[in-house]
Amino acid sequence: MADGSPIPIMTRAVAFAAELAPRAAEFDRAERLPHEVIEQMADSGFLGATVPVEWGGLGLTPLEYGELTEVIGKACASTRALLTVHTSLVAETLAGRASWRIKEKYLPDLASGRRIACFALSEAGAGSDAASMSTSYLKKGEDFVLNGRKKWISFAGIADVFLVFAADNGVVSAFLVDRETAGVEIRPMSGMLGNRATHMAEVVLSDVKVPAENLVCGIGSGFAFVANTALLLGRYSIAWAGVGIAQAALEEMCSHAARREQFGCKIGSFQLVQKMIADAVTGVSAARELCRRAGRLRAERSPDAIAATSIAKYFSSTVAGRVTSDAVQVLGGSGCWSGYPVERLFREAKILEIIEGTSQVQQTLIADFGLTTFARKG
Ligand SMILES: Cc1cc2nc3c(=O)[nH]c(=O)nc-3n(C[C@H](O)[C@H](O)[C@H](O)COP(=O)(O)OP(=O)(O)OC[C@H]3O[C@@H](n4cnc5c(N)ncnc54)[C@H](O)[C@@H]3O)c2cc1C
Repeated sequence: MADGSPIPIMTRAVAFAAELAPRAAEFDRAERLPHEVIEQMADSGFLGATVPVEWGGLGLTPLEYGELTEVIGKACASTRALLTVHTSLVAETLAGRASWRIKEKYLPDLASGRRIACFALSEAGAGSDAASMSTSYLKKGEDFVLNGRKKWISFAGIADVFLVFAADNGVVSAFLVDRETAGVEIRPMSGMLGNRATHMAEVVLSDVKVPAENLVCGIGSGFAFVANTALLLGRYSIAWAGVGIAQAALEEMCSHAARREQFGCKIGSFQLVQKMIADAVTGVSAARELCRRAGRLRAERSPDAIAATSIAKYFSSTVAGRVTSDAVQVLGGSGCWSGYPVERLFREAKILEIIEGTSQVQQTLIADFGLTTFARKG
């Protein structure tokens, strides 16, 4: 860690989250994160949280980063999304996979938050089956030329650099594309269910010239090395995001149930309401433990970390969906109104079941793990 102790960073995170939480509804309505919030994230070092210290990051361990993600994710899902996209999907991936030359060119600026990065994999026709992308690259002299259209790209509206995936006859490679490059067009998108303040956009690439030095990790490494590494890191971040959202909903649910009276009693005394609270407490505790387990395995570089991360992401996003739905139920009419946070938490939780590999994609991965691990031989 940059300052030798986890306490100052978590103290900073908790203080930042306390300022952030009351403003999350405003960001959601405005569909944008104010510049000063991004600046505060940068100044606190959060945007370089998992980037090694030698590249200007905080060098947090997976567990420390998970806790940071939970704290910020509990306060504001869109602000947390900046951590997932900029820090996990791009900066940490480059730190692990890119050439020294790329690290030198990009990592210090990404770690400090001087430049913001986004991750451009999905297309209108290529989601879960991302390898079927139609964005193409062609080697022309010393450069590569990219053509295509990426969709649902969080923070593309404000990012300075894009990690773009493209294919040449099925060979997928990854490139870093600077926003100012000729032929890059950003088409903002709005009206999302959640993550509304993530400056989402389509990225249209028309004969975009990328220097060969911006090819990340060699021709054909785009999917196996770069995207898979990035999605694993992103998945870990989303697992902790689910804990944050579920914890926020649990606190709203319990506070309301302890106050609200119907039929002459607090509604928290009704057993049917208590069941929802008990399930929420249990689900949040279990999700947090699965995230911690994935974090520990990642820190040990265990091969089991891959399956553990899918398990944590699948479980935690499912729990967040159920707990936020029950929180709406416990708040009744108030739960359906934007004057209370649970309506937004309910929307944000659904997003977690779709991004960084849908719940069905996680189930498929977990089942593959189960079949190879637990089927009796012979
Ligand atoms: C808020 C938000 C932010 C996003 N940010 C980014 C970003 O920054 N960068 C980026 O590249 N993308 C981003 N995305 C896109 C996201 O990664 C995709 O939406 C996701 O991968 C799912 O792809 P899809 O939407 O095309 O759905 P599809 O892949 O078409 O899936 C539709 C349904 O079919 C199911 N399905 C698909 N294949 C299978 C299968 N083999 N077995 C069982 N079921 C299956 C899915 O689980 C799902 O229920 C974002 C999306 C959202 C909603």
